Amino acid sequence: MQRISARQCTLGGSVSVDGIGVHSANPVTLSIDPAPADTGYQISRIMEDGRIVGPVAVDFSRVTRTTLCTTVDLGESVSVATIEHVISALSGLGIDNAFITLNGPECPIMDGSAAPFVDAIVEKGLQVQVAMRKYIKIIRTVTVRSNDSFAALEPHNGRSLDLEIDFDNKVIGRQRMIFEWTPRKYVENVSKARTFGFMKDAQVLRQAGFALGSSLENSIALENDKILNTTPLRYEDEFVRHKLLDAMGDLALGGMPLYGKFRSYKGGHALNALVLSSLFANEANYEIVLADDLPLAFDSLDDLPQNLEIKSYLRSVG
Ligand SMILES: [Zn+2]
Repeated sequence: MQRISARQCTLGGSVSVDGIGVHSANPVTLSIDPAPADTGYQISRIMEDGRIVGPVAVDFSRVTRTTLCTTVDLGESVSVATIEHVISALSGLGIDNAFITLNGPECPIMDGSAAPFVDAIVEKGLQVQVAMRKYIKIIRTVTVRSNDSFAALEPHNGRSLDLEIDFDNKVIGRQRMIFEWTPRKYVENVSKARTFGFMKDAQVLRQAGFALGSSLENSIALENDKILNTTPLRYEDEFVRHKLLDAMGDLALGGMPLYGKFRSYKGGHALNALVLSSLFANEANYEIVLADDLPLAFDSLDDLPQNLEIKSYLRSVG
């Protein structure tokens, strides 16, 4: 079986989704296009007057806000919010290179999960590229704390996340998920988990101009110890799975995939961004390695999601 995980990947074709921003409620179209090797994830925004700002690398150094969602600065006083779910879909599927373009200030929330992005990409398949995949291998543990919560990046043979949440709420309570990444496991166990929120916060958020687009169509809404949605949870522990989905998006802002373990207790976007910038603050914490030099997280096509077709494999190898 080919070690496809050793090679960089992009999308098999362009995809486009329409939706609304969860905070702004504005309609937005987001497209994702294949990109050459070593592009990483680059984002552009089409402004109302037709001007295009970007593409710029979706990089941790461009993260400007981490309240409620992750926002990146594109320069020229232009930003894009709520990037974490679409980036999570790309990272979760093992896509290294993509151009993301949208015509609004916020990525569409879709159903509150990464599944609509995943489905659109899976429909087009993957393109395995010639260039060897590079990883950021964690060689020294980095930990950041805030009150009783923490996030850490640790050396580990593989790509792993160990995430725990602890809510003073009977529906959520304490949930923990340990996840050894493969694209198939991401699609099946993580990508469908929806974002969630509490009704007591919604009122305050709306008055401040946030969550204007949030609804039972795109969030799990909790009122005290009750879920207001009439449809059942997609996973019994959907809440921790969504936090893991978010973390996968936030941690993909290092420019290439991380090789190591992420651990977090009661974390979120702010700690995710902080642990990543702390990792890069000291070159002794990590090294850039070629996939060939690592025992890989997944080695065979069996670890790809069902229906995901490799459209072209090393097409341009001479
Ligand atoms: Zn989220």
